[in-house]
Amino acid sequence: RFISLEGIDGAGKSSHLGAISRWLQDQGEDVVQTREPGGTPLAETLRDLLLNREMDGLTEALLVFAGRRDHWRTRIAPALAQGRCVVSDRFADATFAYQGAGRGFDWSALQTLESWVLDGGPGPDLTLWFDVDPATAARRRAAARASDRLEALDEAFFARVRDGYARRAAENPQRVVRIDAGQPLDGVGTQVLQALQAWWPG
Ligand code: C5P
Repeated sequence: RFISLEGIDGAGKSSHLGAISRWLQDQGEDVVQTREPGGTPLAETLRDLLLNREMDGLTEALLVFAGRRDHWRTRIAPALAQGRCVVSDRFADATFAYQGAGRGFDWSALQTLESWVLDGGPGPDLTLWFDVDPATAARRRAAARASDRLEALDEAFFARVRDGYARRAAENPQRVVRIDAGQPLDGVGTQVLQALQAWWPG
């Protein structure tokens, strides 16, 4: 089974990664915890380029999909084939949100790329979307003093990215669960556990 975590920068999703992995382990699962952009040596090299070089939205989309191809083919798909659980901090929805809605890259072209990269496979079984308003997220990023070139983008950009996530959630209601990430950490953690319990197929 494959779970992804999504949300704009400052939504706080990464804080819950460990708890999600532990919960799955408590259910007797063997867990692979990973992230995007990145997740393999090649994809981490591409991540470094994405975060530190200036480029347009199309270049970003091609780079993240190149990394995703390597991640999917060499790490995620083999783990799933062995019956392991994969938990990824971001996956393909992020490309629709950031490069699609955020940077204006064509949505249906992204769908084609997604299908190629996953060999037509289904992708995540469950996506926890940590949804927070852009102003709250900006305050959290400032408090964390986050500073790659992308996290410095303005609130209008993150408002578009949030809309992109909302669109993906509406297009994939069976898979995407919205978490109210504007709440304090405890409240978000409770929602995450409830979402896992409600979904868990056993
Ligand atoms: O989730 P994480 O903080 O590791 O993401 C690293 C950076 O990559 C973030 O600043 C995010 O905005 C950016 N990103 C992106 N396009 C994606 C995924 C992430 O620009 N498809």
